[in-house]
Amino acid sequence: MDTLSHTLWGGGLFGYRGHFWIAIIFGAFPDLVSFALLHIINFISNGFVAELPSFASLPAWLFINYSISHSLLVAAGVITLVAFWRKDIAYAMLSWPFHILLDAPFHTAEFFPTKFFWPVSDFFIAGIPWSNPWVWYANVAGLVVLYIMRGRARVHNNSVN
Ligand SMILES: [Zn+2]
Repeated sequence: MDTLSHTLWGGGLFGYRGHFWIAIIFGAFPDLVSFALLHIINFISNGFVAELPSFASLPAWLFINYSISHSLLVAAGVITLVAFWRKDIAYAMLSWPFHILLDAPFHTAEFFPTKFFWPVSDFFIAGIPWSNPWVWYANVAGLVVLYIMRGRARVHNNSVN
């Protein structure tokens, strides 16, 4: 899924008990340390280039960072450690594994399939790309429903208090 959708899903699902910004950041985290970092490095070295880099020109570290940040095992390990310290923060960080679960069925085998059990297994789902209109509009509809529900819950809570 695109990074903005991940961010919104993370904030909407796991940011409502406080720590909204942590949920937002960890919703985007797997893409921030991979694609966003690549874009920043490219921008610093080449300035703004309109076309996307070719697949063959992508650096090796991008694939490594993608694998690490898109592994449920890595996310579970880190969040478990945080939970020993702060359960409330660990809860907001659940937007990270949710990002991975959302990527898993919506990436093709050709373009960054999500190896969610990396490094134990390279298994992945050869999925439908998230740019498919059915997937994309379902994603947007899901986000709209989620934020309407959160908005209603907030109005309800405010009227109770
Ligand atoms: Zn991702």
